[in-house]
Amino acid sequence: MIDPERLLSRFLRYVQIDTTAREDAGRYPSSPGQLELGRILVEELREIGLDDAAQSEFGIVTATIPATVKKAVPTIAFNSHVDTSPETTGAGVKPQVIRNYDGRDLVLPGDTSKVIRTADNPELRELVGRTIITSDGTTLLGADDKAGLAVIMELAAHLKQQPDIPHGPVRVLFTCDEEIGHGVDHVNLAALGATACYTLDGRGADEIDVETFSADLAIVTVRGVNIHPSIGKGKMVNAVRVAADFVSRLPRDQLSPETTDERQGFLHPYVIQGGVAEATLKILLRDFDTANLAQLAERLRRAAADTTAAFPGSSIDVNVIQQYRNMADGLAREPRAVSYAQEALKRLSREPKLTIVRGGTDGSRLTELGLPTPNLSTGQHNPHSPLEWACLEEMQQAVAMLAQLVQLWAQ
Ligand SMILES: [Zn+2]
Repeated sequence: MIDPERLLSRFLRYVQIDTTAREDAGRYPSSPGQLELGRILVEELREIGLDDAAQSEFGIVTATIPATVKKAVPTIAFNSHVDTSPETTGAGVKPQVIRNYDGRDLVLPGDTSKVIRTADNPELRELVGRTIITSDGTTLLGADDKAGLAVIMELAAHLKQQPDIPHGPVRVLFTCDEEIGHGVDHVNLAALGATACYTLDGRGADEIDVETFSADLAIVTVRGVNIHPSIGKGKMVNAVRVAADFVSRLPRDQLSPETTDERQGFLHPYVIQGGVAEATLKILLRDFDTANLAQLAERLRRAAADTTAAFPGSSIDVNVIQQYRNMADGLAREPRAVSYAQEALKRLSREPKLTIVRGGTDGSRLTELGLPTPNLSTGQHNPHSPLEWACLEEMQQAVAMLAQLVQLWAQ
């Protein structure tokens, strides 16, 4: 059976290893703790009985839970990432286990100015009596995504102990450096050989993330004419002013992150640098409808044309680079990935919630590469923050959900 205490002890063990991703490390994975945690996971997978458990030169951990059914059924994969966000330190995590939670605000003992308030976390009110885990307030907790690791490890132990549960081959995939955008760089999809994959990296319970943004990046290069200011009259074209004019022509009270939510897309200028001769801007283009990205790019080109008309002698080059695509585009080609996840929750008398992500996930990259990969709940909350917390019973539900899911794929 699923063992909540074993699940908890795994989770507590993993969060105490510092696996903070480092933005400018110049190596992969970006921090040694990720390799260390990977080694521990391989050992534990072998103890569970997954004999092929291995860590690649890039720190990627893979293993197979062998099929218990004889007929050929699709191979599926479960993925979590071992690294934690660089936004808050993950060094010296001291997890606090609050049993039989009483519904009150949680003051964190290492820094009492850090309080997890029910007003900001209304879902806590539904979790009275449950087991809540927090950090001591001086670090993040690392439930993003060590809750996912613990859930997949507990699933592996559960399935190995219950060989009467009918399932096909299940591949375990633990990746590195997801938080700095490199989670999929060294994943060998051919070797993984899966028909569908699930990232275990979602918040709360019962959610299935089925859509992400489609995303492009525009690099805008503004060129002016530089000359000494003392003799600039009639000759200087200042790229700083040209760039400012260009930005002022972009939508601000609509189509911006500051003014949109839910399914609305945006244009987001987030980097500007340069001088009189040349300035560069970086602008994010985001929309759930991939076709709308072309319209956003067109707006940039129109603004560029209007600006250069107002500044004779200037030029603006708009270079749009593809980043990632809405997961829904690829999931449509393998509808079982989502429908079986919904069915697994229904079998547990739970209400599946199909959700959208205003960003990208490793699942959106994997889906784009041809491996349909929705994201599932793991009981994590408030990621990347000292106020991060997790709920043990939600993690346990995630294991139970996966145990149903593998059976559906074997039918
Ligand atoms: Zn994550």
